[in-house]
Amino acid sequence: MVTKEEILKALEGEDLKDLGLNATLRDITKDVFVDPEGNVTLQILLPRRGVEDILKLKLMNALSDFEDLKGVKVQFFAPSAGNQQPQQPPQFGGPQIPTMGPGLPPKRKLPGVKRIILVGSGKGGVGKSTVAANLAVALKNIGYRVGLLDADIYGPSVPTILGLKNAVVGVDDNSQRILPVEKNGLKVLSIGFMLPNEETPVIWRGALLMKAIQQFLFEVDWGELDYLVVDLPPGTGDVQLTLAQNLVIDGAVVVTTPQDVALSDVKKAVAMFEELGVPIIGLVENMAYFVCPHCGKESLIFGKGRVEEYATRKGLKILAKIPVEPVVSEASDKGIPVVEAYPESETAKAFQKLAKEVADTLKV
Ligand code: ADP
Repeated sequence: MVTKEEILKALEGEDLKDLGLNATLRDITKDVFVDPEGNVTLQILLPRRGVEDILKLKLMNALSDFEDLKGVKVQFFAPSAGNQQPQQPPQFGGPQIPTMGPGLPPKRKLPGVKRIILVGSGKGGVGKSTVAANLAVALKNIGYRVGLLDADIYGPSVPTILGLKNAVVGVDDNSQRILPVEKNGLKVLSIGFMLPNEETPVIWRGALLMKAIQQFLFEVDWGELDYLVVDLPPGTGDVQLTLAQNLVIDGAVVVTTPQDVALSDVKKAVAMFEELGVPIIGLVENMAYFVCPHCGKESLIFGKGRVEEYATRKGLKILAKIPVEPVVSEASDKGIPVVEAYPESETAKAFQKLAKEVADTLKV
């Protein structure tokens, strides 16, 4: 059974930089109790009010590797000095966060937007942005009206993939709302459009970050859309939380690779969507196999069946298996997504299949 020491150690690994604090979860943990059945109670000192939900996400992250945890209860202690009375202790089963509690504004729909699809991943570099961009273009090619929102504030790559590095975002004179850029019929908005140049580091924290995301959500004139595809930052964090708390999200696509599926990052991303009440449409297995450009032979360079095994265990569908093909990055570097640059390639076909699966699951 898990011990108090193991839990404290795990809490050390989760920092609170997002909250502007140079500390870890361990530093704000008052005490940990493990009962003989394996139920855990965490007493957490709130650094300030209003951060309970973010802390629950972080706790979930920190504890997600303990598979034998029975139940986890969190007691928050108010920040004011001397007040050691716990607040209403929110309870939750399993090492997961509860559904966000009462007191939150009701979730909204974006006017004119029929379906919102999130594209997430456990970690960076698995091809999440490539999948988001190609999914959006492939949906558009089927004939839907599609928007693509690049909310990857830490590494916006949609402007590169779509050849929109020099795009300038307009503002509607009357409504004062942001107007997305249009590229071959696809409406696109990226946090990258707001940056002076590619090298500018975007480390927006706390309130400023939330403000930017809220603006990106509610102050954009998308017009009429069938699908809005959102490229999330990798992992589990504030942006995901803000989106899921404020908007009715129709579904999420989680991108992983055969190498990374065994890692807890993917599990965390899936657990996060489940706990935020976002239905998971399915997984995309990127870099699933390699097609030799000379002989056309397919090789499973990263091992077979890993994503399938995980998907079966979790009851998730694999929506598409995308091969590794040099044309993908070549096309992206040129600013033309592979579904448009090489529509006959294996990769493009896999993206077309993905778009069809998504459209079949979330009909408009
Ligand atoms: P993420 O958004 O997860 O950080 P990206 O979409 O930016 O990942 O992809 C990371 C790199 O991998 C990019 O250079 C991209 O062109 C490349 N890439 C992604 N998917 C494939 C693929 N199926 N085949 C070849 N290269 C790929």
